[in-house]
Amino acid sequence: MRWRGRRQSRNIDDRRGQPTGFSSASSRGGSRTLLRLLPMLLRSKGGRAILVVGGLAVAGAKLAGIDLLPMLMGGGSLSTASHPSQAMSQEQEELANFVGVVLADTEETWQQVFQRNGATYQEPTLVLFTGQVSSACGRASASVGPFYCPSDQQVYLDLSFFEELGHRHGAPGDFAQAYVIAHEVGHHVQTLMGISNQVRQEQANASQQVANDLSVRQELQADCFAGLWGYYANNHSNMLDPGDLEEALQAASAIGDDHLQRQAGRAVMPDSFTHGSSAQRVRWFKRGFESGDLQSCNTFSANRL
Ligand SMILES: [Zn+2]
Repeated sequence: MRWRGRRQSRNIDDRRGQPTGFSSASSRGGSRTLLRLLPMLLRSKGGRAILVVGGLAVAGAKLAGIDLLPMLMGGGSLSTASHPSQAMSQEQEELANFVGVVLADTEETWQQVFQRNGATYQEPTLVLFTGQVSSACGRASASVGPFYCPSDQQVYLDLSFFEELGHRHGAPGDFAQAYVIAHEVGHHVQTLMGISNQVRQEQANASQQVANDLSVRQELQADCFAGLWGYYANNHSNMLDPGDLEEALQAASAIGDDHLQRQAGRAVMPDSFTHGSSAQRVRWFKRGFESGDLQSCNTFSANRL
């Protein structure tokens, strides 16, 4: 990616090196701004609301946030023990700068998309932490992977996840990392649009299977939103190099539920999916990437995911 020398977001809350990543979170309002976008995204062609059922997503998660990965990793697998609170390495600093640039570019993208729909985008804060962090969704360790907390509208990221992505999941590269950020920002967009809230409500009284299906649709939509950002990064910001798209697709594929279940030595059980299969994650990322169109990301009305 051609990211150097570009504007960095001001919405980075750098808590690296702080023992508990103490939260200074203030709750934010304003998720109503975008409700008028909601019907477009959540209603079927016939105008009937799609979400007719409803338990909190993220099966098995202690955290009431929205994560990138299914909870299969078992925890404790990240190198979270040895973060020096003093000087960050130059490599870490560069990575943090990179995150700032990607976040800034997502801000520009979503500002444009929202504006076009007569709404105003409210930028999320991205919290960088090491080891563990406190959020309005609870305390989390880095082993859960990057996540978004709807209650404080913040994205949480331990940069060591990028190492994990490259080594353990076989998805190295800066655009793979950018996809992760854009996916979490996608959950922020869903929160602004009222989608996350509606999914939570629908899940509350639903069977596990239906709740999982809703979770998959929500996650795949976040992938599609990440792809939509990729479209802008490619066509407007001109940030992409040859091979970048493949990096993101590789990452999307690597964190599909089926792939992770297999990797964990388990049988592949589609009913237990909460994030979508590798093929589905790739498909929806591509859909957003190729169309650059919000409407193309309506996973809730899709017959085939
Ligand atoms: Zn997610």
